[in-house]
Amino acid sequence: MDIKKLLTPLTAWGNITKDPVTIKDPLNERPGADRYRGFHRNDTDVCIGCGTCEDICENEAIDMVAVCASKDGDSGLRPMIDYGRCCWCALCVDICTTNSLTMSNEYTWLATDPDEFRFIPGIDKKDWDEGDKGWKKPENYEFYSLNRVHMEELSPEERNGSFIEMMKGYSKEQAEKEADRCVECGICTATCPAHMGIPEYIKAIRNDDLEEGLRILYDTNPLPEICGRICTHKCETVCSMGHKGDPISIRWLKRYIADQNPSEKYKEILEVENLQAKDKKVAIIGAGPSGLSAAHYLVLMGYEVKIFEKLEKAGGMMRYGIPEYRLPYDQIDKDIDYILSLGVDIEYNVNIGTDITLDQLGKDYDAVFSGTGLHLGRSTGIDGSENEHVYYSTDLLRQISQGEDIEVAESIVVIGGGNVAMDITRSLARMQKEKYGKVKVIATSLETEANMPADREEVVEAREEGCIINPGWAPQSIEIKDGIPTGLHVVKCNSLFDKEGRFNPQCDLDVKEFWKGVMIVQSIGQGMDISYITEEMKEKLEFGPRGRVQTDEYFQTSLKWLFMGGDIIEGPDVIHGIANGHMAAIGIDRMLNPDKE
Ligand code: SF4
Ligand code: SF4
Ligand code: SF4
Repeated sequence: MDIKKLLTPLTAWGNITKDPVTIKDPLNERPGADRYRGFHRNDTDVCIGCGTCEDICENEAIDMVAVCASKDGDSGLRPMIDYGRCCWCALCVDICTTNSLTMSNEYTWLATDPDEFRFIPGIDKKDWDEGDKGWKKPENYEFYSLNRVHMEELSPEERNGSFIEMMKGYSKEQAEKEADRCVECGICTATCPAHMGIPEYIKAIRNDDLEEGLRILYDTNPLPEICGRICTHKCETVCSMGHKGDPISIRWLKRYIADQNPSEKYKEILEVENLQAKDKKVAIIGAGPSGLSAAHYLVLMGYEVKIFEKLEKAGGMMRYGIPEYRLPYDQIDKDIDYILSLGVDIEYNVNIGTDITLDQLGKDYDAVFSGTGLHLGRSTGIDGSENEHVYYSTDLLRQISQGEDIEVAESIVVIGGGNVAMDITRSLARMQKEKYGKVKVIATSLETEANMPADREEVVEAREEGCIINPGWAPQSIEIKDGIPTGLHVVKCNSLFDKEGRFNPQCDLDVKEFWKGVMIVQSIGQGMDISYITEEMKEKLEFGPRGRVQTDEYFQTSLKWLFMGGDIIEGPDVIHGIANGHMAAIGIDRMLNPDKE
């Protein structure tokens, strides 16, 4: 045996009189450098629990643990660091999507309990939490581009007088570049009403596997061409990348997948073959987003499905409430034709309540789903609003989609600040441009510019097209002369809600304006027509706030055979309708097949 090796442990005794260098010694401080990478700090109010730090840590030193209730844009998780594994590389800090994670310059820690070397920065309080020395992500240093890839669009001049689709779509290079920005955190999925597999389909774009992308879209959303264009994209409002830069263009990436897959190949890609109709059948009232979504999933489950549609084409408010420059009719048809090709039967121009009663449908079918939407306009109730030249945006948008002639006036005032108000404002502006060669539309809302309910881009684009958008004014009366409106009287609106959060507009009656317009359009919300529900049925149903029928999580009403969803229950928006229809299909299947696993 080597005698030197045998005696080596004893050489440690040679250090017994030296100062320790790895143990904090109050008499001999050895502070870390100002930018040393020491123990972590986390501003837990800023952190959103996206888990990107956990994903990047090669040492698996980070576990996400639940510390608070999850809410929109925040998973409720926070990183716990295991200093038995951490190598202090600071990758987690550099990639943090909110800049909440930093490192102190403290690097010594004395404890006898090994568990103390695993803690949740910011939650388990430490001496270094308040200091500001240590490692922070250097400014202007990002792992990902903070700017979204711009989608080309028609110029305002090209848009004027034209209903051609204004957004041109992403090229392959643009879509892949935008998809590269996604950190796959999944924060968006929780906020999407349909809980779409967003990081998964964005990954499919990165992998250039658009057929896989389409399969992921159809798992939860059978209207991807439509949603890829006009979804209200609530997911983007919470996207982790939006904390430091632009959120990912989730909606446009969805559109890219749908645009690139030809409809003739859908059945093959989605592996749909030989659907056998069961002996049970379901009636659906209304071919809007919720009805079409329910029909799609029910027919895949093997039910015989028939839709009863009041108008002459399918699509509901998607076709009759959204202008073609935002949602071209051939793209609506692409989504709907595929659903109908699965064997869904549809009968047009049927009015439930007069042509066939709801009661009868309940007897003829094993279940009924109703998604009749919000097709009625709401009146402001101000003086002059009953005049025949004062219109509802819902009626005008429907007439425009049906190709009916509209008497477009040379000067128009639109009352309303939501997306529907912007849709009618911009549609009428296009028609004015075509007819008179100039635009003269004023749109006004009670809300201030910052609080307008319309999407920001809608307001910006409306202005680019020559419309005047005047937020923060309350309509008082419509001036009528010789049976024709001459304009709208407004006063300044200073606030909308009182201290208790109740709707209670406060106006300054001394600050007045008069806006000339011989055509006035009211666009302050939509109402539902559920007159097809008889009084006898109403007694058996439960009603909640705003006259909405109460349903359970599967959109089943207290009449067990009747399910209701879409705008008459939730929303209003297309993606809630799609999610409701899907959930109702699952609920109907559970009811009709209680023994199913
Ligand atoms: S510093 Fe590096 S090793 Fe430590 S937790 Fe962060 S990523 Fe993981
Ligand atoms: S990356 Fe940042 S925001 Fe996301 S969980 Fe980690 S510390 Fe929180
Ligand atoms: S789109 Fe945004 S929120 Fe969704 S997974 Fe990607 S980075 Fe996260």
